[in-house]
Amino acid sequence: MTSSESVSILPPNMAEQPKEITVIGAGVIGLTTAIKLQEKAGYQVTIVAEIWPTDHLSPRYTSPWAGGHHCTAIMSHDPRDLQMETETFRVLWEMSAPGHPAEKCFMRAPQYGYYFEEFSNPRNVETTPDFKFLPKSALIPGAVAGISFTVVSFDPILYLNYLHKRFLAAGGKMVHGSVQHIKQVIEGGSTVFEGKPPTPPAAIIVCSGLGARSLGGVEDTTVAPVRGQTVILHAPWVDFGATRRKFDEDVVSYMIPRRNGNLVVGGTMGADDWYPLPRPETKLAILERALALWPEIAPPEVRKQRSPTVEDLLPIVVYEGVGFRPGRKDGIRLEVEWIEANDAKAPVVFNYGHGGSGFERSWGSASIAVELMENALKKA
Ligand SMILES: Cc1cc2nc3c(=O)[nH]c(=O)nc-3n(C[C@H](O)[C@H](O)[C@H](O)COP(=O)(O)OP(=O)(O)OC[C@H]3O[C@@H](n4cnc5c(N)ncnc54)[C@H](O)[C@@H]3O)c2cc1C
Repeated sequence: MTSSESVSILPPNMAEQPKEITVIGAGVIGLTTAIKLQEKAGYQVTIVAEIWPTDHLSPRYTSPWAGGHHCTAIMSHDPRDLQMETETFRVLWEMSAPGHPAEKCFMRAPQYGYYFEEFSNPRNVETTPDFKFLPKSALIPGAVAGISFTVVSFDPILYLNYLHKRFLAAGGKMVHGSVQHIKQVIEGGSTVFEGKPPTPPAAIIVCSGLGARSLGGVEDTTVAPVRGQTVILHAPWVDFGATRRKFDEDVVSYMIPRRNGNLVVGGTMGADDWYPLPRPETKLAILERALALWPEIAPPEVRKQRSPTVEDLLPIVVYEGVGFRPGRKDGIRLEVEWIEANDAKAPVVFNYGHGGSGFERSWGSASIAVELMENALKKA
């Protein structure tokens, strides 16, 4: 028998137990990070979160409000962000392929982007599916250049539910709980949120989104909302997405088609704006801007007769949304710190502050968080 063929002589109760890991947060970041760990050998992951995908919609839970899409051609210059976006795009592209169990959460659609003042070459052109420069005749008013490519858009509620089910199917556990201070989890684990005896975890990963601002022991005041208001239309005749953004403005016009025929029309970028309900005047402004740029959003029968107005869009409004992007001054926090609570001690990995790119960086940031955690545990 060679050494690689040797068999364990430990009695079953002495064989290595999976390490208990607690993830705080069940948004796209918490769920993705938890899946990454639970699907690896050697971990038993429990998510503790106030709000889950199956709960009511709330301004305290950003992920269901996302547009959302992953735009490769306008990816970041920052090498770490670019790495996260590239990895995530690969995963979402695979998931959106025909026959994948997550396919129905996604739609692959042509996307148009426009440049206004100084034209900078879009990054990663060669990796972007179906990339093309637009001819001048196809530009929207004021644009100096334009591009088109294929984007992966997603229905965030369907996708969060897919992630939730996938995590449970892999053996993960979920506990409803509102963590007041990180030390509650270090000393008590997830079980104290069920009123059961403590089970201190080997490590904790904090994926609390905007909640990082108020969570005791984290209290990161550089985290603040970037409010996004959207209008969801039922417009199955629109089969492409488009974005018009001037980076010095707090408004952005975009439309993102979804597989079910809905069309997300946005939006706003309200820094430190905490108002939780849709503002009626903003809804009209969003629709007016979008209609001027893309008259195709109006019903075809109206367009055949005359120029459409905002009134023509109101009957096809399905719902309106407001979400708080978890902005952070220095970008995503991906760090690890050892924290003590009475006799317990654990590495705490932080994975929050994803702003307007949580879905686009989710799989990549989860990989970094897992690596940070494993390195910390090796040194323990
Ligand atoms: C209008 C709009 C459009 C967007 N479009 C896109 C897009 O196209 N592409 C893209 O990539 N991103 C987009 N985003 C951004 C994206 O939605 C966010 O980056 C992402 O949802 C953040 O996820 P998260 O998991 O960090 O936070 P959340 O989804 O807010 O989840 C936080 C979790 O932590 C829990 N929690 C917080 N505090 C505590 C506590 N103390 N105790 C227990 N649990 C706690 C919450 O209950 C929740 O489960 C958009 C956002 C908006 C608003």
